[in-house]
Amino acid sequence: MKLSTHLLVYPFPTSGHIIPLLDLTDLLLRRGLTITVIISPANLPLLDPLLSSHPSSLHKLLFSDPEITPFPDPLIAKVLSTQKLFDPIVKWFRSHPSPPVAILSDFFLGWTTELASHLGIRRVVFSTSGVLSFSILQTLWEDVEEINADNGDQRDEKLSISFPEIPNSPEFPRWQLLPVSCNFKKGEPNYESFRNGMLGNMNSWGIVYNTFEDLESVYIDHMKKQMGHDRVWAVGPLLPNEHSLLSTMTRGGSGIVPPNDLLKWLDKKPDDSVVYICFGSQTTLTEKQMSALTCALELTNVNFILCAKGINSAFLDGFEDQVNGRGFVVKGWAPQLVILRHRAVGSFVSHCGWNSTLEGVAAGVMMLTWPMGADQYVDVKLLIDELGVAKRVCEGGPKSVPDSVELARLLDESLSGDIPERVKVKELSKAASEAVKKGTSIKNLDTFVKLLFE
Ligand code: UDP
Repeated sequence: MKLSTHLLVYPFPTSGHIIPLLDLTDLLLRRGLTITVIISPANLPLLDPLLSSHPSSLHKLLFSDPEITPFPDPLIAKVLSTQKLFDPIVKWFRSHPSPPVAILSDFFLGWTTELASHLGIRRVVFSTSGVLSFSILQTLWEDVEEINADNGDQRDEKLSISFPEIPNSPEFPRWQLLPVSCNFKKGEPNYESFRNGMLGNMNSWGIVYNTFEDLESVYIDHMKKQMGHDRVWAVGPLLPNEHSLLSTMTRGGSGIVPPNDLLKWLDKKPDDSVVYICFGSQTTLTEKQMSALTCALELTNVNFILCAKGINSAFLDGFEDQVNGRGFVVKGWAPQLVILRHRAVGSFVSHCGWNSTLEGVAAGVMMLTWPMGADQYVDVKLLIDELGVAKRVCEGGPKSVPDSVELARLLDESLSGDIPERVKVKELSKAASEAVKKGTSIKNLDTFVKLLFE
């Protein structure tokens, strides 16, 4: 076994993608790998804590974010702009005394399959989405000939995905899963380039998923069949050690409120008496949505932590006083894991980004789902229809507004006693913890590392 096996890790540059891949990087470093992480100066604070813990085996490769390629959809524009790093990475690789033996890169960076083959090394995909939504997106890009969708104009167009192993194949409106503004025509260079990248994932040497077998075993088997080999590893949920409060608090950067203020507030609340409400790192509610939510919170008696970003923060001025100490408002980045792991938190209103989904399940809190886009609709389907650990509070599209009275009822209900969803999520939480401590996820991770060393 060569102790100096060197791996190049390349996260897609948004926090929801960087955070879990760095959690995985930490586990890989602890298994003896030498790792270089590609990161921009703006995102370096996310890597700094890890650089301090592994000063000799972890290195950074700094590249400023390439100029954004003009394109109607901001996500695709960002993905396309990363391709400008192809040549600079090749140059770095060629001049390195002991270059990496493989690239572990985000599934949006599908073009790195070609990069790896150019360099004569292996490419491993890291998926920040669950296996079900990954498979659906892959299928979608395989089939697509032409799409004209602008912000949900084609709401009734259904996409059925058929998995032979699954009795009721999921069915989703196409617009839910595609980028916000999408006018794809086969042959158009920028879309072809994005699409080829997504399809390139299937030609990679292997795929690592932030999921665990009890959550998605059917889809993991499906993916192995699709790939035509077994190098598909579920290693999640990737989360910092529950005993390390410091790394849990600083995960994703330091928050806007001193964590101790929040903990003091939570410590005074009874067990399972607080609803935590947060919509991830990218989404901000519209004014109508925020107004329906605050109205529902006024109608209930529940305690809550409400995390709001962007323009809606101002909307919440004075709201804490209005609800007489029942609520704690975080106007900016919240220490989500610290909150979810606190005994006082019993339920979680979430947009159901995959990280939040896993974090909620791992913490054993009942999920209340309010998806807004991308893979979130698929995650909701998994949570509700297959796992039975959540209830819907809003559905429809990114601008849908829930009924405040019904929302208030669901918030109250989510904290009341042993409803079936709560019992099930506690069981799943135990399974998640076992998977990463001594179960399937740890075994899969060890197999993956062993093969990297070969
Ligand atoms: N997060 C956080 N504080 C916030 C918002 C988000 O710690 O105020 C973290 C959250 O714990 C999760 C990630 O950011 O790890 C968000 O990822 P997710 O996939 O849930 O949603 P996205 O931000 O990609 O939409």
